[in-house]
Amino acid sequence: MIVERVYIAQNIGFTVYTFGKGAPRVLIVAGLHGDEVVGVATARILIDKLKNMTIRGTVKIIPIANELGLYIGSRANPIDGKDLNRVFPGNENGTVSERLAAKIWSLALESDYIIDLHGCGELCIPHILTLFISSDKSADLAKLIPIEYVVGSQAIRGQLFVEAAYVGKHAVLIEIPGTRSFRWSIAEDIAMRLLSFLASIGIVKRQSMEIKQKLFKGYVSIVSNYEGLLRRCVEPGAEVEQGMSIAEVEGEKIVAPVSGFVVMVTESKFVRIRDSIARIATEP
Ligand SMILES: [Zn+2]
Repeated sequence: MIVERVYIAQNIGFTVYTFGKGAPRVLIVAGLHGDEVVGVATARILIDKLKNMTIRGTVKIIPIANELGLYIGSRANPIDGKDLNRVFPGNENGTVSERLAAKIWSLALESDYIIDLHGCGELCIPHILTLFISSDKSADLAKLIPIEYVVGSQAIRGQLFVEAAYVGKHAVLIEIPGTRSFRWSIAEDIAMRLLSFLASIGIVKRQSMEIKQKLFKGYVSIVSNYEGLLRRCVEPGAEVEQGMSIAEVEGEKIVAPVSGFVVMVTESKFVRIRDSIARIATEP
């Protein structure tokens, strides 16, 4: 294992762990969003497992892409206020986030497979976001990762996996239940599934898990139209019909605009107008 620090300015950068050499080449990134620590924990577990394994090919892991964001518990980078996962492919002469993105992007361009780990909240079903329609390679990678739910991304530009898919890489994003706080058991479970993927492309030797995936073409994000205390009406994993209540805010119903599968829903809390309430996967 080689451990390197990559800097974009004095004291600002990230650590890259490299296992093995040659093809196939895999890049795993976590912590682009500083408040999604569950991805960081998953990457750390994977690093610990790979230390003791024989590697055929290359695995590079960046466990904490946005170190300053992690430190203060914020999604964005605190220096430029930018969302690091909206500025890819980055800019070497740009702001802090744009420079970090440019460094990560250069590693992505050297890789065949790119997997970006995120946290999707406490009440969430683990799922892979992929680009079904625009990228066969993204869909092919999703099939190799034994996570049950695979959902078509909205493909918002500037995301690492979206930009990588557009330049012809196998690239997906994995949403893992958890936020700043998380359960190690969930991180451990996702790390085992990533090891299974590495086994399926011959990088490590172990039995790869077989599961049947459920595919959804896309998803709808539901935001609050009201401000106040939210009362949640559904569980993650629920099948909902169009018009069913997802939550109530101060007695006002927030209903599902479409029928589908609830992959993520917020806990009961104080919400403001436009705050995210739920994500419903649609069109299996
Ligand atoms: Zn995220």
